[in-house]
Amino acid sequence: MDEIPVKVAVRIRPLLSKEILHNHQVCVRPVPNTQQIIIGKDRVFTFDHVFGKSSTQDDVYSSCIKPLLVSLIEGYNATVFAYGQTGSGKTYTIGGGHVASCAEEEKGIIPRAIQELFQAISENHNIDFTVKVSYIEVYKEDLRDLLELETNVKDIHIREDEKGNTVIVGAKECQVESADEVMSLLEAGSAVRHTSTTQMNERSSRSHAIFTMSILQQRDANNGATENGPIKSVQMISSKFHFVDLAGSERVTKTGNTGERFKESIQINSGLLALGNVISALADPKRKSAHVPYRDAKITRILKDSLGGNANTVMITCISPSTSDFDESLNSLKYSNRAK
Ligand code: ADP
Ligand code: MG
Repeated sequence: MDEIPVKVAVRIRPLLSKEILHNHQVCVRPVPNTQQIIIGKDRVFTFDHVFGKSSTQDDVYSSCIKPLLVSLIEGYNATVFAYGQTGSGKTYTIGGGHVASCAEEEKGIIPRAIQELFQAISENHNIDFTVKVSYIEVYKEDLRDLLELETNVKDIHIREDEKGNTVIVGAKECQVESADEVMSLLEAGSAVRHTSTTQMNERSSRSHAIFTMSILQQRDANNGATENGPIKSVQMISSKFHFVDLAGSERVTKTGNTGERFKESIQINSGLLALGNVISALADPKRKSAHVPYRDAKITRILKDSLGGNANTVMITCISPSTSDFDESLNSLKYSNRAK
């Protein structure tokens, strides 16, 4: 398979009722029948996929994620990121919120991917599947296990094995047998995600959350027949899919953060900065010779074997359409533009 650069999708959410109430106007919109977005009067950006305010969860899943799930089952790693300022729709899009109480058509990416994976498993009787999930959070460059709260942050480490696979030593991996079982782990882990109130007076997610489904497939490979019957061997294929709800990309100054919270913002931004640098190094046509700076942050170290190489990556940049978020939206579009 050819190396595939990172695909970039941009999703503009609708104005929220509180924004309508405050008479905010729309300042970002898709250009009809193109993959372009116009912000303000005349700044135009082009992306691989563009979703406007009427786009559904199914639209996003079908065009951006379904192909990754298909290649996951073929043995390729996959990563999807949701990027954007707090309140732009990251958690809504990735689907890591209150999944249990969510209406079917409102369900985001993770629940849809879980359902499709188990559908594929039930249709492939000749393959023996083992599915494991983990759910961790990167907060101020510390790792926290969202599935096992008793685990001390100091006992979780990132390691690379002989084959170049990234392993998170000390993080709980739950073996699961059904979609329902995965959904309850997702629900439980999401409930403990680190949130705090900022001066923007919103519950804002200050951490990156990484939900991972790892699959191991055992297939009987028939290598032709001899006089004594067919030669049987077992083929093992392993692959994983990371679903990443990134920390809010907003600038420190806007939220008026100081002290401890200020330090927190700087560390969060350094993770996003490192990710941006990795993604643009991967998108560079001269990348074969270029250095990809994975080691600069925990988030990029964790995702190293699932970003670039044979892995498929989609970044979904979430955008608020409101005039009051113009600066942040422009910053997000610029950040995403580097990925191409
Ligand atoms: P973030 O995770 O980026 O902070 P959220 O996903 O929590 O943002 O979204 C903020 C609010 O906007 C939530 O109330 C969410 O339900 C709503 N929202 C986000 N995207 C959409 C969308 N595409 N359609 C309808 N409502 C949305
Ligand atoms: Mg969120």
